[in-house]
Amino acid sequence: MICVSIARGRHRHVMAEHRHLVQQGAQLVELRLDYIGGEVNLKRLLADRPSPVVITCRRERDGGKWAGTDEQRLMLLRSAIAEGVEYVDLEDDIASQIPRYGKTKRIISLHDYRKTPDDLNEIHARLASHDPDIIKLATTANQSHDNLRMLELVARSKVPTVGICMGDIGTPSRLLAGRFGAPFTFATFHHERTLAPGQLSYQQMTDIYHYDQIDAQTTVYGVIGDPIGHSLSPMVHNAAFRRQGINAVYIPFRVPREHLSQFLEDAPALGIKGLSVTIPHKEAVLKKLSSSDATMTGVGAANTLLFDNGKIAGFNTDYQAALDSLEQALEAHYGRKGSLEGQAALVLGAGGAAKAIAFGLKQLGAVVTIAGRTGQRAQQLADGLKCKTLDWNNRYAFQPDLLVNCTPVGMHPNVDATPYDKHHLRPSMVVFDTVYNPENTLLIKDARSQSCTVVTGVEMFVRQACLQFKLFTGQEAPSELMRDVLKRATGPAKY
Ligand code: NAP
Repeated sequence: MICVSIARGRHRHVMAEHRHLVQQGAQLVELRLDYIGGEVNLKRLLADRPSPVVITCRRERDGGKWAGTDEQRLMLLRSAIAEGVEYVDLEDDIASQIPRYGKTKRIISLHDYRKTPDDLNEIHARLASHDPDIIKLATTANQSHDNLRMLELVARSKVPTVGICMGDIGTPSRLLAGRFGAPFTFATFHHERTLAPGQLSYQQMTDIYHYDQIDAQTTVYGVIGDPIGHSLSPMVHNAAFRRQGINAVYIPFRVPREHLSQFLEDAPALGIKGLSVTIPHKEAVLKKLSSSDATMTGVGAANTLLFDNGKIAGFNTDYQAALDSLEQALEAHYGRKGSLEGQAALVLGAGGAAKAIAFGLKQLGAVVTIAGRTGQRAQQLADGLKCKTLDWNNRYAFQPDLLVNCTPVGMHPNVDATPYDKHHLRPSMVVFDTVYNPENTLLIKDARSQSCTVVTGVEMFVRQACLQFKLFTGQEAPSELMRDVLKRATGPAKY
């Protein structure tokens, strides 16, 4: 179950949001009395409430906005209990001053906005001594491992426990709460009005993650990277799992570089069977693999991991997806199966995507030149692949048959930028932009206007996601659905 927090300054807005949420299917709503401006009229808020409520009134030190005195706050909480609310949230230091009464269930809570304390078990035991029906622990995740510590505590606890790690590193604990036995998790009314860092909206929880269908049997997949908030992979993969009727969820895991090893150790205990890998981990994960194939060793980066019996296998679906997308474009360009043998390819950028694509192009016989902003990085890549480099400022020095943008230039929100000036594009060129958000980057628009053959990053993204889906589940991916979801998420096509 999802408990949706409502934090509005006016009674009528609280009540309107409450009604709206229940119409959307919400079963439990938290009313944050500390957000209400002026005197709180409990009777008005509770009279015709359309669902059970949790009444909460937080002090500033617990992350709230209560401006009145402590005594007034206690009075308000006692009055809520007297009104027969379903749940009342009591911080552990005041819980003993508000005894159990009537049918109201007691949530004994503790918030830590700085860390997830080492003595989590002792804190939990202390909260358990205050006659709780439910214990709520909300602490800040400073490391990925905090999620597992919190969720294992939730699973072990005899008292139903809502254990949540705040911050974007902690978002997985919100999504996996139910899988580990928490009675509910928290969400906000709107994703732009979060009350705690890392919180998702009710709509995101239900429409993207289908939270209420996550149970102890749900297989966990996800994407690791840092940052990760922008990733569209959760939308695409979760839609595919749902379409195929697979009990699985795909979660964004923000994993800073220094936490990668610990996270990979924790993954099986979190229920993880497979992961997508993005910046900055694609190369670093190679050291952690139990097995890798020749392609991946050649590319020097993995974007997919499978966990099985303590072993981690790595794959690179970017490489295959890029080549398949190009092959399709060449066929359209030449009206028959095209060949890259002897074609001059200019790859812009020298990061993970450039590595995978340049390696693939070399395998297919193209003559590859790398133009990278940081000369040393481009040279390193070129040395490994035995190809040439061009200084970034000299990238127009020759006219390639194939231009591949492997830099983020042109990506949302910098949609007016292009890595390659329109006037250097020729109709004979094939232009491949790996950027997929938006699909129609300025480079793609310019290339179309110059009658070049184009390959968009959406094509590559969908193909690599479909290959991952097959590796994860053994099933063919619903590629059209995944394409639709991605296109909808990246905005309407302008061509
Ligand atoms: P990466 O490892 O961080 O590499 C990025 C490369 O772009 C680096 O060489 C970097 O130069 C260069 N760069 C960054 N900003 C630049 C700028 N303003 N001007 C010139 N060069 C710049 O990232 P990646 O994983 O290779 O990803 C690169 C792009 O590929 C991203 O936009 C991503 O969306 C796209 N991609 C798409 C797919 C897909 O499925 N469609 C899959 C993977 C990646 P320095 O070396 O100087 O830092």
